[in-house]
Amino acid sequence: MFTVGLTGGIGSGKSTVADCFAAHGVPVIDTDVIARDLTAPGGAALEAIRAVFGETVMRADGTLDRAALRRRVFADTGERRRLEAILHPRIRRAVEQARAALTASYVLIVIPLLVETDGYRDLLNRVLVVDCPEELQIARVMARSGLARDEVVAMLAAQAGRVQRLAAADDVIVNTASPEALRSPVAALHRRYQTLASVPSP
Ligand code: ADP
Repeated sequence: MFTVGLTGGIGSGKSTVADCFAAHGVPVIDTDVIARDLTAPGGAALEAIRAVFGETVMRADGTLDRAALRRRVFADTGERRRLEAILHPRIRRAVEQARAALTASYVLIVIPLLVETDGYRDLLNRVLVVDCPEELQIARVMARSGLARDEVVAMLAAQAGRVQRLAAADDVIVNTASPEALRSPVAALHRRYQTLASVPSP
């Protein structure tokens, strides 16, 4: 199936843009949602995480202490790699399963770290980047999360920058105005993707 990867920095508006495509009936697979499911109670990655990171990342009720895990992997690249080794193959498998179960002209996959991980290029026909200035990203994430500015700045610093992300883009949606202003560019891209999807691949 024709597959569009949607990416963008934290707070750029990926979920907001994905919702606009969903309003056109486009199926959306969100790797963040899959990652959360995998680490929710009964999730397929929970036992592996407990085995590798131990009880200090688990709460007394047996659920994952996400904040504790985030602190561990944020502070230590080796720990981050270990977590990624658990999560990435499982997320990728879940994406492929979800995609195989769909019937649609094309599918949108939200992949926040598309540029950083490079693990999905073979699956994608097209890369769509949501872009906005970093100051807007920071303001939005602070408003959404209540985190302090320096914490949000650190999150941005851990991701690819705008230039690197835009270099990987086939298409760009600029999300600097109101959410309503996304409707027209999303509708145009939706038509474009439908057309591209209808052309048989070689
Ligand atoms: P991402 O998925 O890239 O992290 P979101 O779509 O969740 O970004 O958007 C981040 C925050 O900014 C959300 O609270 C969202 O409601 C808000 N937001 C997104 N786009 C706009 C916009 N154009 N105008 C105002 N607020 C926006």
